Amino acid sequence: MTAFWHNHPLRRPLGRAPRGDRFERRDSLPPSVRRALKTAAYRDCDQRCVYCGWIMPFSEATLDHVQPIARGGRSQPGNLVVACGPCNRLKADQHPQDFFARWPSAGENFMRYARAVHRALKRSARRAVSLAWAEAA
Ligand SMILES: [Zn+2]
Repeated sequence: MTAFWHNHPLRRPLGRAPRGDRFERRDSLPPSVRRALKTAAYRDCDQRCVYCGWIMPFSEATLDHVQPIARGGRSQPGNLVVACGPCNRLKADQHPQDFFARWPSAGENFMRYARAVHRALKRSARRAVSLAWAEAA
């Protein structure tokens, strides 16, 4: 059994998919800078995931670019929030408007907790959320 499973083809992980530079996911920030930005975002977001509202320990928080890097977002405080892992993976590289259109309650939490983000991001969140609720009604 053990030997069978050990050699089973499904057990082998996938090879890494080639990654074009169009899909750059991570910024190249030095770890110390990254940590400082995360600390500031964690404080500004009241220690919550801005999308689901969970009050999370620092170790669970992930730094999220509201406007994804892959879509031209910058690693600057006005574009940075903290989110829990599941929310961050759910949002992935979507435009915030698209994400909030699909998950309006995430948009409402975002408006409540992401206090330090750029005003334009909040404005587009508000628009996406009210459109989503109007279409759902
Ligand atoms: Zn969350």
